[in-house]
Amino acid sequence: MTQDKKPDSEKTKSAKAVSGASDATEHKFSAEVERLLELVVHSLYSDREIFLRELVANAADAMDKRRFEAQTDPALALPENAGIVITPLKSTRTLTVSDDGLGMTAEDLAQNLGTIARSGTRAFGEKLGEAKPEDRPNLIGQFGVGFYSAFMVADRVTVISRRAGTDEALKWESDGKGSYTISPAHRDQPGTDVILHMKADAEEFLDPWRLRELIRKWADHISWPVRLRETGQ
Ligand code: ADP
Ligand code: MG
Repeated sequence: MTQDKKPDSEKTKSAKAVSGASDATEHKFSAEVERLLELVVHSLYSDREIFLRELVANAADAMDKRRFEAQTDPALALPENAGIVITPLKSTRTLTVSDDGLGMTAEDLAQNLGTIARSGTRAFGEKLGEAKPEDRPNLIGQFGVGFYSAFMVADRVTVISRRAGTDEALKWESDGKGSYTISPAHRDQPGTDVILHMKADAEEFLDPWRLRELIRKWADHISWPVRLRETGQ
């Protein structure tokens, strides 16, 4: 696996002045990520419901990783009832996908959600750029579109994550337009919340009936329980 290490020159000192948030550091996406984001958001609009498949798959992967690591480090053991929870909230127009997975450190967040580490993803960007519009949906099946597909339905994505075995939680946040910030946060238990601030034209994905349909369609084969939390709000 190749790892694109982010050069320090790509990191800007502090987003304090920009966001007003304390202790937030602003990072620029790599050029490849910017290009991929552009491609995913603009080329796959008609298939955008697959964002849920991607986020649930990532949550399940993180729980698999934690279960594996817990075999040699009992401190990382999964809680009882470990699973994936999907929470739509119309009042804040957010959709949250939460897991009890391994979680991410600050370095993981920058590496995994800010660069393209996998050559498969790079190849996807290249193929998508070359493909005719009618062939693009097929490419989704061939390559995991991944985390960035969240920006098809959200104009801002917030990730709150706490690596199992640590007390420190972090917030990663981006509008998918060139940069993201990382700042300290709080999370009671290890795991990750991916919070999508939905676009106005993506409100259908806050409807429980629509989500149930998507969970049936895309999360059926997942080996962890996937629960829809209906708050009625
Ligand atoms: P892929 O899943 O194919 O590696 P993605 O774009 O879907 O690509 O995700 C990129 C990486 O971000 C994952 O490999 C993983 O390291 C990290 N990641 C994404 N979502 C989560 C999550 N919920 N918990 C832990 N790590 C995650
Ligand atoms: Mg993935």
